[in-house]
Amino acid sequence: MASKRLLRTTFTYWLLLSYIVAALIWWFISLNQQNKQMRDFKLSDLHFKIDSASHSNEYHQQFNKINTEYNRSHSKFIGEGSTFLILILIGAALVYRSIRRQLKLQQQQQNFMMAVTHELKTPIAVAKLSLETLQKHQLEPEKQKKLIQKTLDETARLNFLTNNILAVSQLESVSIPKYNEEIDLTALLKDCLNEFKNRHSERPIKETLADEADIKGDPLLLQMLINNLLENANKYSPKGLPIIIQLAKNHSVIELKIADEGVGIPDQEKKKIFDKFYRIGNENTRKTQGTGLGLYLCKRITKNHNADIEVIDNQPNGSIFVIRFKN
Ligand code: ADP
Repeated sequence: MASKRLLRTTFTYWLLLSYIVAALIWWFISLNQQNKQMRDFKLSDLHFKIDSASHSNEYHQQFNKINTEYNRSHSKFIGEGSTFLILILIGAALVYRSIRRQLKLQQQQQNFMMAVTHELKTPIAVAKLSLETLQKHQLEPEKQKKLIQKTLDETARLNFLTNNILAVSQLESVSIPKYNEEIDLTALLKDCLNEFKNRHSERPIKETLADEADIKGDPLLLQMLINNLLENANKYSPKGLPIIIQLAKNHSVIELKIADEGVGIPDQEKKKIFDKFYRIGNENTRKTQGTGLGLYLCKRITKNHNADIEVIDNQPNGSIFVIRFKN
């Protein structure tokens, strides 16, 4: 559907552009012809009025004047025509870029809506089914525990997703606030890691944390930043491979690194992944669920905390997300 619309828009665009350029060329040719006809007419008139054979001075003067006028008009048409053509082409390039950007955003928003609908429906369906099973059947304690744990995991996922959506709309609606709350990032990171280990007990974690790292900020937003990066490291690296976390203090800069040994991120995607709704690959090749909001949110949170975020390659595989807080 979207690709059909893209095809139609592209076709109409090229058709209109070709028409405009053709009209301009036609305008140039017909003006030039008129100019030529005018010169010929003036020359024959001159010939008629003054005898060229006499080689009179006046004849030559008039002859040169007519030719100079002709050449001046010809150059004027070339100059005006080229200026118009350049302006039309620049305008066309700008329109083309903005239309493509608009269509791409529309496509990403559509994908986002589909992803959100799916991500919302799954946990609700699982929770409903589990509760109905618990209500109808007398299960063994072990099975009961498993079912409850599964429901809790799904509700945690639901909570994560809704928090991300709410945080994005909140951050987009206010200008950059000033945070005054003193936070020990080491303690906050440890809390996040403990919760993460509970959720993914099978995932090895290697951590090297500075004893204390004080920054000013919003604890809830910072938790979301760390959780998003941890969940991504988990989502985009094979089971069993470690996630490495480092928190270091270097004079006034506090550096947080979250590294995985997963699929990694190609160089040409390293900037784009922080765009809203952006996900690598297309809907048919992607294996993981997601909304494309996580890293956009991380970028906004770091910006609000006078920090920057970048992604670099891990060796031999995977990616490292680096955040630098400048106090
Ligand atoms: P989501 O994970 O919901 O798709 P994100 O905004 O968190 O959205 O990430 C955007 C894209 O960046 C992802 O779709 C994924 O392709 C890529 N990505 C993010 N984190 C990693 C990672 N640790 N390793 C490889 N690719 C990643």
